[in-house]
Amino acid sequence: MYRSHYSKEISKTEYNSTVTVSGWVEDIRNLGSIAFLILRDKKGTLQLTILKKKTPELFERLISLPRESVISVQGLCKENEKVRNGYEILPDSVDILSIAETPLPLGVVDKVEADFDTRLDNRIIDLRKPEVQAIFKIRSAVLAAAHEYLRSQHFLEVHTPKIIASSSEGGTDMFKLRYFEKEAFLAQSPQLYKQSLMATGLDRVYEIAWYFRAEEHNTRRHLNESTAVDIEMAFIQDEEDVMQILEHLVHAMWKRASECREELDILKKTVTIPTLPFIKVPYDDVVDKIQQQHSPIQWGVDLSTEDERLLGDIMKKDGIDFYFITKYPLESKPFYTMPDKEKYSRGFDLECKGVEVSSGSQRIHDVALLIERLKACGLDPKDFDAYLKAFRYGMPPHGGFGFGIERFLMELLDLNNIRECILFPRDRSRLTP
Ligand code: ATP
Ligand code: MG
Repeated sequence: MYRSHYSKEISKTEYNSTVTVSGWVEDIRNLGSIAFLILRDKKGTLQLTILKKKTPELFERLISLPRESVISVQGLCKENEKVRNGYEILPDSVDILSIAETPLPLGVVDKVEADFDTRLDNRIIDLRKPEVQAIFKIRSAVLAAAHEYLRSQHFLEVHTPKIIASSSEGGTDMFKLRYFEKEAFLAQSPQLYKQSLMATGLDRVYEIAWYFRAEEHNTRRHLNESTAVDIEMAFIQDEEDVMQILEHLVHAMWKRASECREELDILKKTVTIPTLPFIKVPYDDVVDKIQQQHSPIQWGVDLSTEDERLLGDIMKKDGIDFYFITKYPLESKPFYTMPDKEKYSRGFDLECKGVEVSSGSQRIHDVALLIERLKACGLDPKDFDAYLKAFRYGMPPHGGFGFGIERFLMELLDLNNIRECILFPRDRSRLTP
């Protein structure tokens, strides 16, 4: 192996012994008879101190390296309190593993912030920055927490098809593709499949996967390919059972994020774990509240981005970051949403600081009602034959939600663009890298 130690893992016990370290050349300071090379690896940086007199040939090879080249160095590790980490390495030999071309399209340690497009165009270099890596380390940690929490609640992990025959919700924001002689679509959610699974006796399922939405507009909180945690659970009384799982899931993920001390330090963030249960505001009250703030909202429609923000500001005044909006009008929710009395539904959203992070509901499990609702929404039940079949031979009451991972991270870390939270974003204009 080209590495015996990471920068941050060298401790006093290694002092005065030979170690092998590897990484990227972040910076070189050549003072003539002595040079300092800052080497960066996954865990941090370390200093190589190269003396011209002692190793003249090595000195020449190292000082002529372009920044961001990859090297592996063997050398003596010496305690030095004046140096970062409390030690330096005096190289005896070096393997030059890759020489970086110059100039770099994007600096890694530049003081001046590059514009966002330049960063995304050169994402592999952008991802070398500790503050960018920190986001993905936290992402990995919160996803681990999601798996753990859902498994602890007896949810089975499943994977449903991403190439599908018809739209999940009759929406128009689907990517079409040619599937041999037929037309197919990329899944915009696992909705119809996860619901179908409720007819199998698996009772509780979850899926963490990516979805595709052909939303035309470039916004700071929409991607065309995004990742979500979806669940579906059977034998529920009503949507309250689903909201309870959602709030505990969010709590577990938020808590795990708060334990990522190193990454939060790099991002200069503190994460305050929200208290449970989250407050529930019925849609009618939301409309009242935001109309008082002069929103033109009419009863019955979904909240606009601006309405969500207005509500977020109102809640913020009371120190509330997380809240459910419940009892949405039936007409504002998808066809599979369980009606409640005449005009209302058992659909809800979870909002975080004025941004929707999840939508869920109790679903309709009665096939006759489902067909009625499909028709009422202008959809043809024939297009949903395969889905409806799951409801004809025994289907328990059930419900679930979809929870956007990038949306969640964006709010968790107060980032102002959702593209920060996905490695290689897909948006209206970006298909590479
Ligand atoms: P919005 O109204 O914010 O566009 P939506 O109501 O269309 O979202 P849902 O179909 O309810 O979205 O999807 C469930 C969750 O998936 C959302 O609450 C959000 O967290 C996430 N999500 C939906 N669409 C996108 C997208 N285009 N990019 C990123 N995340 C998304
Ligand atoms: Mg929604």
